[in-house]
Amino acid sequence: MAQKYPIEKVRDIGIIAHIDAGKTTVSERVLFYTGVSHKIGEVHDGTTVMDWMEQERERGITITAAATTCFWTPSYAKGDKAFEHRINLIDTPGHIDFTVEVKRSLRVLDGAVVVFDGVSGVEPQSETNWHYADDYGVPRLCFINKLDRMGASFENSLQSIKDRLNPNAIPIQLPIGIEAGFEGLVDLLRMKAYYFEGNNGETIVEKDIPENLKESAAKHHEALVEKIVEQDDDLMHKYLEKHEITLAELKKALRKGVLSLKIIPVLTGTALKNKGTQLMLDAVVDYLPSPIDLPPTKGTNPNTGAEEFRKPDDNEPFVALAFKVAADPFVGALTFFRVYSGTLKKGTYVLNSTKDSQERIGRIIRLHANHREEIDEISAGEIGGLVGLKDTSTGDTLCDPEHPLVLERIDFPEPVISARVEPKTKADQEKMGMALRRLAEEDPTFRVSGDPDTGDTIIAGMGELHLDVLVDRMRREFAVDAKMGRPQVAYKETIKGSAEAEGKYIKQSGGRGQYGHVRLKIETQERGAGFEFVNAIKGGAIPNEFIPAVEKGVIEAATRGVVAGYQLVDLKVTLYDGSYHDVDSSEAAFKIAASMGFQEGVRNSKPILLEPVMKIQVIAPADFLGDITGDISSKRGRIEAMNDRFNTKVIDAQVPLSEMFGYATTLRSITQGRGNFTMEFDHYDEVPNSVAQQIIEGKKK
Ligand code: GDP
Repeated sequence: MAQKYPIEKVRDIGIIAHIDAGKTTVSERVLFYTGVSHKIGEVHDGTTVMDWMEQERERGITITAAATTCFWTPSYAKGDKAFEHRINLIDTPGHIDFTVEVKRSLRVLDGAVVVFDGVSGVEPQSETNWHYADDYGVPRLCFINKLDRMGASFENSLQSIKDRLNPNAIPIQLPIGIEAGFEGLVDLLRMKAYYFEGNNGETIVEKDIPENLKESAAKHHEALVEKIVEQDDDLMHKYLEKHEITLAELKKALRKGVLSLKIIPVLTGTALKNKGTQLMLDAVVDYLPSPIDLPPTKGTNPNTGAEEFRKPDDNEPFVALAFKVAADPFVGALTFFRVYSGTLKKGTYVLNSTKDSQERIGRIIRLHANHREEIDEISAGEIGGLVGLKDTSTGDTLCDPEHPLVLERIDFPEPVISARVEPKTKADQEKMGMALRRLAEEDPTFRVSGDPDTGDTIIAGMGELHLDVLVDRMRREFAVDAKMGRPQVAYKETIKGSAEAEGKYIKQSGGRGQYGHVRLKIETQERGAGFEFVNAIKGGAIPNEFIPAVEKGVIEAATRGVVAGYQLVDLKVTLYDGSYHDVDSSEAAFKIAASMGFQEGVRNSKPILLEPVMKIQVIAPADFLGDITGDISSKRGRIEAMNDRFNTKVIDAQVPLSEMFGYATTLRSITQGRGNFTMEFDHYDEVPNSVAQQIIEGKKK
């Protein structure tokens, strides 16, 4: 298996789906047909190979973005190994609380297969993930799954993709039959019918298109060819002059259209009933990019600040992105990384250019679904795992120390929810700190802190389920039993105005004195700008050695705002004057003076409370529309859009997170169990005065 693959025969792809659309089942079938696993594992048995973690099996959702390598020779090549490709499958989760996993996988994959449930078509989460994939410019194929299900409709699902995701979606297959009568597929390029025989559909049989589908297939074929020839001027001429266009020419132009995101091919089938997965893999090979089809990777040289590019070439300097650190039960920390250029050899040293530290490359492994292969080197375009890195977290760049480069970081949202965690016993207490630290290293949207008043441990993340899962993992993987308190909204504070303030900490009676004195200017910044400290001291009013202490004092004070003690964000602090004493001044005195001055300044700059506002989408039958929108309004929500989808209404709204606790239950009772919703963080917004009063009161209790 260690043969070296030419880079053009590598595909780094992900399967993206709404939860329950069948991503796990599709991945399973991929591993089965590519020969990695020899037994088909059903999701409901909890035996799937992709879902490593026990609790994922129980919950039936895939949380980790594990990467798996497999090999595929397209079915049309009839076993000719010259056509074999290496597919690195990067697993992505469907649940909204794990957005971060989707984002980080999108950052490193080159192409994606988006799986839809053939009964429900486009669902809210598919939409969210689709837009992320747009942000990262990821070429895509659509796979409409579950055509065997009662109520499945290829046409409706296709229409929902065109209407809600991209009008350039176009079928390259048609189903033969539907629901229990779903038998096979028409390939609209080859104009042939394919059936899947044998116990697991492994034998593909080619036949003529059935009589009743000939007309429709011809119509779709025509539309597809028209769309494809638009991608290539020469082909367009040929087409207009009615010359024959070969299959190879069509495939080549279709590939071009997919790579430039101008065409989204739509395929279909049923993973569970073993129809269509192999042809989907053929399309991955034929139409999704290899690493070499992508533009060179951009980064910043940390020494010069200049932008530099690296081509996906083994002879370029090595650069890779660590896209996931997983606490692995067998090897400890396992760092998944993607090589963008150059090669990495075992036993060498690399630079972690994000942290400016050195890492030794002990073991490089390639992950297959059910075994790990140790390899000596890994090349551009590949995905692998590293064992035993000391200091590398998710999003860090690893590179050739002689040619330092920092790749663009993965951008992660701030946590919006927090809860206390209490260890059950003294022994748990001791292990909990380490366990939480490890989990936080893995997941940049998970934070751990201590409550300075009570000494309690506080965890923060992207949603209730996110925190639940982490507490659960602590128990399973680290044997730490802990109880999580009621989740709280992660409010923040900021200021609307600006002020100048003075902080003095002077004690000069008896013994060694204290002398710190600063003048600060505090200004509001635009939302999301973060926190900025500027040193504008001139003429040595405060000696340089004390400036870091001033900054530290301000940063520490900013962790506890003046309204209700929440983190202060989006402000700029300028240190512009002050004074010192030759003997009595110390770092400690300046730190205290800075923190006092800062707090006073904040008090005088119209401090306000901010709350996370969520984007929600509710789907329910039209009968319940009035009750749903009324309830959203009573939750301080704002309706953004109401649309029809098949027989249901889709309501998009923004609602403060604090109003959304228990919404699943509310919605169920409003809609007699027929409504669904998804929710994700959108932005922080000012809390209205009356509500702010309640939060402040609540905090005092
Ligand atoms: P995921 O949440 O996207 O990973 O979805 P799963 O692969 O776990 O599938 C969700 C459910 O749909 C499971 O019960 C599967 O057995 C079922 N399922 C998956 N694919 C198909 C299919 O093609 N047809 C039918 N009828 N059910 C399917």
